Amino acid sequence: MRVFQCAVMGSGGVGKSAITVRFIHGSYLEWYDPTNRKQFSVDNQPCLLEILDTAGIDQYLTLNDMFIRESEGFVLVFSLCQRDTFEEIIRTYEAIRRIKLPEGNQIVPLVIVGNKSDLIDEREVDTTEGEKLAMEWKCSYYETSARTSTNISLVFEDIVRQLRRNDLIRRQ
Ligand code: GDP
Ligand code: MG
Repeated sequence: MRVFQCAVMGSGGVGKSAITVRFIHGSYLEWYDPTNRKQFSVDNQPCLLEILDTAGIDQYLTLNDMFIRESEGFVLVFSLCQRDTFEEIIRTYEAIRRIKLPEGNQIVPLVIVGNKSDLIDEREVDTTEGEKLAMEWKCSYYETSARTSTNISLVFEDIVRQLRRNDLIRRQ
């Protein structure tokens, strides 16, 4: 089976690992296998997704470029409770385009995720801001909570649909 590779990127502390663990194991903040592979069904078709849970981006810029090169799809996570992490995903998006577009890719499969939606009182980024960015980048926007398991699977289903579409386009 074709293995799709996607990277979860975003500032340290936004919940990248919590989202990955929640999706792979259905649990919150437990130790997990670093390979992060999961077989599941999207639109009644099985798929195998390998998720690269990256470290925070500020410290490891060259490592970041390597993750981008090795991945086909991207889940860009920010914290709804921390505005600077929202601004950080814009920088990551620019890095992804710089690295991916010269390879002849027309589209880069990508999803924007605002995490920690359960912390209602601490919100710093409005839903409309996430939606506006998604419109600009022509991608989807999800608000998730790894803690309460809200909308997590939608994120990975969306990325798989985009990766499949990309495969079809390339075969034409
Ligand atoms: P990473 O550095 O992006 O991998 O972030 P982690 O997954 O390690 O999470 C950082 C902190 O945010 C941890 O203390 C988590 O408990 C907390 N966290 C992650 N996701 C959520 C969430 O959806 N809701 C809440 N309330 N806390 C979260
Ligand atoms: Mg982490």
